[in-house]
Amino acid sequence: MTDNDTLFGKIIRREIPATIVYEDDEVLGFRDIAPQAPVHVLFVPKNVHIPTLDDARPEHAALVGKLALAAAEYARREGFEQDGYRVVMNCRGDAGQTVFHIHLHLLAGAQLGRFGTPA
Ligand code: 5GP
Repeated sequence: MTDNDTLFGKIIRREIPATIVYEDDEVLGFRDIAPQAPVHVLFVPKNVHIPTLDDARPEHAALVGKLALAAAEYARREGFEQDGYRVVMNCRGDAGQTVFHIHLHLLAGAQLGRFGTPA
């Protein structure tokens, strides 16, 4: 593990509690503490610290892809593959990123509103 002194680093190391719903060798998935949909799970890399999507480099391509595939696998496991779901990655200030360890949000379980308009 490269240095990850973020909240999510602490969750990955089990230093603070989270409801973990998905885990493989490279990715951890846990419930968002302030869910924005009936199902709201965050998928993070366990072994590599990348602060934002802008910091991802070509050598991280497979890992970034694995976050999406982990979300899809979890969504399938929970039965959302037909009704659908949304994945979101916030990058820095205008997107409202608050935790600087790259993460993919999975939102599911309801008809989701439009998004992307200025706050
Ligand atoms: P961001 O806004 O950076 O894209 O997403 C960070 C997410 O982390 C937010 O949706 C926020 O609700 C969630 N979060 C903040 N603190 C905690 C925490 O202590 N535990 C969990 N499980 N999620 C958190």
